[in-house]
Formats: sequence, structure tokens, C-alpha cells
Amino acid sequence: MSQPFDVIAYTADACVYCPICVNDMYEGKSIDYEGNEIGPVFRDSEFDYPTVCESCGNYLDLRLTTDGVTYSLGLLRDAVYDYTVTDFLISVANTLDRYLQDNYILDQFDIMTKDVLGIDK
Ligand SMILES: [Zn+2]
Repeated sequence: MSQPFDVIAYTADACVYCPICVNDMYEGKSIDYEGNEIGPVFRDSEFDYPTVCESCGNYLDLRLTTDGVTYSLGLLRDAVYDYTVTDFLISVANTLDRYLQDNYILDQFDIMTKDVLGIDK
């Protein structure tokens, strides 16, 4: 079972990395290339934007602040207008599902992915 203090990512050299990539890049060291401590990102850490690993690009399912929810909704709104769906945007929508109910933009994004583009997220 996941705990609030589970480490799900790390910050190093002013970027966020998944545990696999941080291990590959820093090989167990505790100091990054800028000379700062490599910091853990705990499961209940909150971010102002949806985040991917800087190295492999995998989506990091981190909690969002209120600003993070607003920013993420903006990404989905733009996607609906531009008619674009990416794996990243689908992950963002799945994260937002946990925060919002009866949201117009989220509904429009779901309609676009499922009904129009046939993507089953
Ligand atoms: Zn990674």
C-alpha cells in the first residue's frame, strides 16, 4: 500500500527524475552535478504543474496544487481547441479526474479522446 512518505521521484540539477533514471545518472551519489543534495519527492508532495521525468519522459503522477489543477486544465483546454491528444495529456486528464467532478473541459477532453479519436484511456 502506498504511504505519504513513499519516494516517487527525485530532484537533482534543478530537474525532476524518476527513481530509475536518478539511479542511472547519479549511481547512488547523494550530490548532483551542481553540488546540491539530491532531494526526494514524496508521494504527497504537491506541484504547480504536471511533471514528467526529465530523462525518460515518463509521467510522474504527483499531487497538484490548486495552481497545478488550473494549469493542467489549461493544457486540456488547449488540447481540445487544437484537437491534439498525447499520452502526456491523457495522464494529465487521469490526474485531474481525482480532483474535479462535473468539469466541462475534462468532459470535452474525454469526449474528444473516446468518441472522436477512439482512444480508450
Ligand atoms: Zn525517468
